[in-house]
Amino acid sequence: MTVLIIILALIVLLVAVVLIRTAAFKPPRANPAAAPILAPEPAAEVLGRLSRAISFPTVCTQAYEGTDFGPFEGFIGFLAGAFPLFHKTCELKRINGYALVFCWKGNKTGLKPMILTAHYDVVPVEKGTEAEWQEPGYSGAISGGKVWGRGTLDIKSQLMAHLEAAENLMRRGFQPARDFYFIYGQDEETGGRNGAAKVAEYLDEQGIRPEGVLDEGGMVVSGVLKGVKAPLALIGVAEKGFCNYEMTLSGEGGHSSMPPVHTALGNAARLVTEIEKRPYPAKLTAPVEGMLRNIAGEMGFLVRMAVANLWLFRPLLLRIFSANPVTNSMVRSTFAATMARASDAANVLPQKAAVTVNVRLLPGDTVDAVEGYFRGLAGKVPGAVKGRPGTDISIKTLVPAEASKISPAGGETGPVYEYLEKLIGEFFPNAISSPFLVMGGTDARKYYRVSDQVYRFTPVLVTDAEKNTAHNTNEYITIENYGRMILFYERFIEGFDPSRG
Ligand SMILES: [Zn+2]
Repeated sequence: MTVLIIILALIVLLVAVVLIRTAAFKPPRANPAAAPILAPEPAAEVLGRLSRAISFPTVCTQAYEGTDFGPFEGFIGFLAGAFPLFHKTCELKRINGYALVFCWKGNKTGLKPMILTAHYDVVPVEKGTEAEWQEPGYSGAISGGKVWGRGTLDIKSQLMAHLEAAENLMRRGFQPARDFYFIYGQDEETGGRNGAAKVAEYLDEQGIRPEGVLDEGGMVVSGVLKGVKAPLALIGVAEKGFCNYEMTLSGEGGHSSMPPVHTALGNAARLVTEIEKRPYPAKLTAPVEGMLRNIAGEMGFLVRMAVANLWLFRPLLLRIFSANPVTNSMVRSTFAATMARASDAANVLPQKAAVTVNVRLLPGDTVDAVEGYFRGLAGKVPGAVKGRPGTDISIKTLVPAEASKISPAGGETGPVYEYLEKLIGEFFPNAISSPFLVMGGTDARKYYRVSDQVYRFTPVLVTDAEKNTAHNTNEYITIENYGRMILFYERFIEGFDPSRG
């Protein structure tokens, strides 16, 4: 009897603690009552310049050497003519031919510089989809309150807005206290190895240690999470890593009329099945936990209770997240079997079969650890030749890129984040700003070499559907967003003083 009472008392206590913590949970809230800073509609010549920027098909090919750099050269020449004051004021250094590094000298010494960056390469308009575009993909057409074409949202708009902002400030006689670098990569869409990576190397060699770096990767997005009404201003503080694992299995060749029970391809399929059956362990990384804490207040009671009591509900929350591909990718290094190759003929037994698994790594998980994990799983698959599990399987890692470091989301070590958050609050008062883990790769990751405060945020307000026009048909930016972008960067540069360090 006493035992029962004690158990009951403990349960009551547990429920009480959970409820009290839930009630006391006050996530940072947006400030919808405040009036946002409104940007004037950009003048016709401002829009004309963006339109012209879009008209250069600056497409970088996977094999970098095969790239047609004519349009890149054309774009650089166009910038010089479009922003004369900027080019007179800033020294331009071309790194590795086409990465552009402009430096606007500050009027004080001893302050760390700040970097604003973007890229000016674009993904191609996919062959066969040209006719589906409302306006041609490289037209830069201005219609219906929008500017259309590749690079409007990803991300020549950001580059152009930087330069419009700087040129405006220069015209008013403004000079920043610290040096501002404006850096533009030419191969972000194909990995940034020839652009951002080389620039980071150059900065490192020069001993340039910026206070912070602001790139693309997050936006103010509305309607992206069910149940969350306020738009989310997502500030990317880290990026997932990337690696292709090519696993080759050997088998006995010969005529397919007298096959073994399992061919090399059959065993490869079994390996893929093992990998799909055993996903990598789920975990909450700092950016995702930070995001949950910021947005849980907008969500239903159950989510709020779970987030307010992670000590108890973490496993449950991870299970809920694992059930949906979008949220799953936030809490786990994901495996996707994407390619397979075996015999060249239907009646020939394959001597080799290869499968490729594309892996996206959470911060904290490494290329090597996942390789070890796959080796363990390969041990369960019978070798086709010797019949012993795990034999005849080789694993090769291709284009490995570890997950990025995690930039601080405010606090003593993250004043640039706080500055950004404050400015976001002024331009988008009804949005909830939050740290965010970027699923794809951007140039930003390269700059951890020289700075700990690397952020990914573009000051545009988009719907989920609008955001998805990037890399897609009918990419556009609204004129309203573009005007706000320019003013945002003006204010960013003008007021930048997060630390005197
Ligand atoms: Zn981009």
